[in-house]
Amino acid sequence: MSAVWNDETAAGTEPADAAPAANSFKIEREAHKLEKRLCREVGRAISDYQMIEAGDKVMVCLSGGKDSYGMLDILLKLKARAPVHFDLIAVNLDQKQPGFPEDVLPAYLQQVGVPFHIEEQDTYSIVKRVVPEGKTTCGLCSRLRRGILYRVADELGATKIALGHHRDDILATFFLNMFFAAKLKAMPPKLVSDDGKHVVIRPLAYVPEKDLVRWAQHRGFPIIPCNLCGSQENLQRQVVADMLREWERKHPGRIENMFHALQNVAPSHLLDGTLHDFKGLKPTGVADENGDKAFDPPELPASSPAAGLPTLQVLKIG
Ligand code: SF4
Repeated sequence: MSAVWNDETAAGTEPADAAPAANSFKIEREAHKLEKRLCREVGRAISDYQMIEAGDKVMVCLSGGKDSYGMLDILLKLKARAPVHFDLIAVNLDQKQPGFPEDVLPAYLQQVGVPFHIEEQDTYSIVKRVVPEGKTTCGLCSRLRRGILYRVADELGATKIALGHHRDDILATFFLNMFFAAKLKAMPPKLVSDDGKHVVIRPLAYVPEKDLVRWAQHRGFPIIPCNLCGSQENLQRQVVADMLREWERKHPGRIENMFHALQNVAPSHLLDGTLHDFKGLKPTGVADENGDKAFDPPELPASSPAAGLPTLQVLKIG
């Protein structure tokens, strides 16, 4: 399957017409590079986690925000280039929030030419009735939405449900879970839904948010604002997002490193006895060059300010 999603597939073709003016040529070139990168990263995530297989019918959940528009757009490009056949169907849940512009998505989806389904369910009234004034509505709203989308996936015969969470959502969730739930837990790129019936995928798992912002600007997606329900976006999520941005500003590359760390876990060097049998540990008598490094300094790249310092100093810096 991996050949389906390789760089060649992602690269597409050069733009047919280069704009005569140097400036517009530069903009076109940047946009083409961005498109290539988005296709490559989405293709890589799909391949790494075997998210889409031949014959799949992928239900692409579309909220009207930049991320889900970007996801649909890139999946359509990959579908056109992939040598295996799979189907896409865009689904929007119209939750009847006041002021929701219900013509925007159908008009866009008709213009793009993708099959779609708009599910109308007034979860807004339920949430307003059930959740006391001043309390956050997002928990109940998300649970209701999830249940409805699973039912719709059944009715449409979808084999996969694609959500538009990106790399920075995954990292922010990781820190929120650590700070507030005392868990090392992020957002999986692929999972079985809690009703056990569906496979949920996140094809944007490797894509940085800033690329989706730029892609949405370039493509001129008709974005629907996400505050129609009057609820504030989770405040702690914003705090964590600010923290990550600040780290990246001060230490470029840190976000990338943290994200790679989520794919490079050493349970034997954490403290969870359910993942590693600490109690049953015995000398094996066999040398293992990947084994104990207890007396060595932490492995730091040469570029790190702490690289090359004696162990105690490194530990103090860390
Ligand atoms: S912001 Fe509004 S629509 Fe979004 S999850 Fe929260 S309550 Fe639901």
